[in-house]
Amino acid sequence: MSLVEQQIVDLEMWLGKKIGIAYKTAIAINEPGGNSEEWINLIAYYKLKEITKEERTKSVLATGLKRGAPVSEVYEVFNSIVKSASNKFKKIKRPMDDNDEIKWEKLRDLIDRIHGDTLKSYKKLVVPKRSMFSFAKEAAENSEGVKSFNNDEGFVMCCSGCGAPRLKTTDFECDFCGGSFANGE
Ligand SMILES: [Zn+2]
Repeated sequence: MSLVEQQIVDLEMWLGKKIGIAYKTAIAINEPGGNSEEWINLIAYYKLKEITKEERTKSVLATGLKRGAPVSEVYEVFNSIVKSASNKFKKIKRPMDDNDEIKWEKLRDLIDRIHGDTLKSYKKLVVPKRSMFSFAKEAAENSEGVKSFNNDEGFVMCCSGCGAPRLKTTDFECDFCGGSFANGE
């Protein structure tokens, strides 16, 4: 493996792993818009600010979150990871070799779209599809706007190579490293 190819693979694995940890930690929170020790540590690790309790409740009511960390926090965490990946990528010179160049371009495109893709996938899992009417009714019945759901919904299929989450149920190969999906643990 050439040096540049190794750098590309290393960054793919790094990105998949970081996104995987953040994704799993966020989704593992049962209380909608809630928190966990692991999540608080992650927020601190990326030097982000936790949102206030009021903001949490507001966010849950506004989005209809059914479990997991608030979307706005998850957005910021993914953003930090992608920014770091982008900085690391800038240090990898565009390869002269055609095969390496294809891999380099693939990683560049992945970094470009992965924030949007992971957030979209996260939202799909934590924000239920339902009519505005039923949502408003439920919110009215539940003044706290907070409700816990079944644990099973926090399950995410992860890549056996890098640990990245499976973003679409139709994905056979990991978006990050091309590995296969296995049970997350
Ligand atoms: Zn992978």
